[in-house]
Amino acid sequence: MAPYDLEVERAVREVVALGAKKVMIQAPDGLKQYLGELCKSLEAAGVSPLLSTEPCYGGCDVADGAPVGADAIIHVGHFKFGGGPDPLPTVYITAKHLGGDRDLPAKAARAMKARGFRKVGLVSNAQHIHLIGEFREALAAEGLEGVVDGETGGLVLGCRVGAATAVEGAVDALVFIGGGDFHALGVALACEKEVFIADPYRGEVRETAQMKRRALAKRWWLIAEASKAKTFGVVIVTKPRQMDLAMAERLSSDLRRRGKVCYLLAGGDVSWDRLVGFAFIDAFIVVGCPRIATDNQECFSKPVLNAGEALEVIKRL
Ligand code: SF4
Repeated sequence: MAPYDLEVERAVREVVALGAKKVMIQAPDGLKQYLGELCKSLEAAGVSPLLSTEPCYGGCDVADGAPVGADAIIHVGHFKFGGGPDPLPTVYITAKHLGGDRDLPAKAARAMKARGFRKVGLVSNAQHIHLIGEFREALAAEGLEGVVDGETGGLVLGCRVGAATAVEGAVDALVFIGGGDFHALGVALACEKEVFIADPYRGEVRETAQMKRRALAKRWWLIAEASKAKTFGVVIVTKPRQMDLAMAERLSSDLRRRGKVCYLLAGGDVSWDRLVGFAFIDAFIVVGCPRIATDNQECFSKPVLNAGEALEVIKRL
């Protein structure tokens, strides 16, 4: 059984209610392996599944299956991102993680108490946000208070950490509930207070301080290196919910005004394979998902910055 709740019954029910005959299913690469049951259930209900082979990094990245004949989308792994209507009627399945260490909330509460914290901010991602209540209870059992942002319910994305910054002033530390470093690093970089990861996959509570120090050192070094570049490439990510033409134009005209040569590039998925051919460009600025630059630098052999970092470069010129 899949360790994630793909809400197969709800997905099929909603797709049938939409009257869809062919539905495109898109999911992050790590969840594609669990889509078999969903496909079978759709077929049993008379709906043809069409599996997207594309990567899918966020709710910002909803496919448009219309060119291949889909009349609806099942988007797995994220909540709706906002930013206008979906290209086709879309059913969102967050893929709640079902496994994990049941003792983790108590472990995290004991770890926070041992450090002398009294109020702890709680944030999480789409797969683990349902655990926030358990963490709150576990903290209360240790005499601590779990604080959750009312507007977001504690949900953070790689590029949206308002759930953390909104409560930071009222807490002693923050705990991100979820696996990996991606979301937690985003929270840690935005907050002054200590951020911990309560990882349901590994059953451990770990610090982010060292990871944050390393990431900051690397980003500031890249900002300094990019400041020496003569020729910049400003890459407009063309995914509709990431595209920001005004920012791309602002950055390129600011750079040109400071004597830099600047070219505009445009593309959907931005990776080093897609940039390496532009040998005449010394540094790239990705205007789109801010994490493309920050989370893939080991794959890049020239400075690749996001828009916020590019503004720092411009301040230095
Ligand atoms: S971090 Fe990037 S991929 Fe994730 S929601 Fe934000 S823009 Fe989309």
